[in-house]
Amino acid sequence: MLQFQIIPVTHYQQNCTLLWCDETREAAVVDPGGDIARILAVVAEKGVTLRQILLTHGHMDHIGGTAELVAQASLPVIGPHADDVFWIDLLPQQAQMMGFKPVAGFVPDQLLNHGDKVKVGNAELDVLHCPGHTPGHVIFYNRAAQLALVGDVLFKGSIGRTDFPRGNHADLINAIRTRVLPLGDDVRFIPGHGPMSTFGNERRTNPFVADKHYG
Ligand SMILES: [Zn+2]
Ligand SMILES: [Zn+2]
Repeated sequence: MLQFQIIPVTHYQQNCTLLWCDETREAAVVDPGGDIARILAVVAEKGVTLRQILLTHGHMDHIGGTAELVAQASLPVIGPHADDVFWIDLLPQQAQMMGFKPVAGFVPDQLLNHGDKVKVGNAELDVLHCPGHTPGHVIFYNRAAQLALVGDVLFKGSIGRTDFPRGNHADLINAIRTRVLPLGDDVRFIPGHGPMSTFGNERRTNPFVADKHYG
C-alpha cells in the first residue's frame, strides 16, 4: 500500500510529499520546492530508498529544489506535462520574482501525458492532465489508497490561481469538474498548499467548484 508524509518546504509552505510503497520501501519525492536537507532527513527517518522525483507543475515553489536533489541523490525527474516546460525554462526569472535564491535549472527525464501511469514500488499512480493553473499541470492518483496529489489545481475551500502567463480559469474549472472530482467523494487529496481534504467535501463546500453551482 502507498504511504505518505507531507513535508512543508520554502517560505510558501509548499506541501512537498514523500510517497513510498510499504512492501518494497521504494519512494518518490513529489514537488521538491526546496529545503532538500529537510526532505532527505525524512527519507532517512522512514528508512526508504528514493527512486524518483515527480513534479506536478513548473512553478518555483514546487520545483526549486529539483536540481539540488538530483545532484545529491541522482534521481530521474518525471513530469510535469510538456506544456509546463516553459515554466521550468523560466526558473531564473521565477526565483527572482518569488524571492528565492538563484537555483540551478534542470531538464526532466520524462514528461507525462494524460493517462500515463507511474510506479512507486508496487503502487501505481494514474496521471491526469489538469491544465488551468498552468497549462502542463498534472495530478497523481493512487486508486488503492484512495489518495490524490493535486498540486495547485485544488485546495481545501479554494482553487489554483489562473492569473499567471498561460493560465486559464475555464480550463481549470473544467479539469476539476470532469477529471478530478469524479475520482470519488471518499478520495483524500494533498494540495500544493494547506490542509488535506476529500473530493466529497469540496463537492459540498468549495465556493468555486461545489455541485450546487453546476446543477
Ligand atoms: Zn503553482
Ligand atoms: Zn504552489
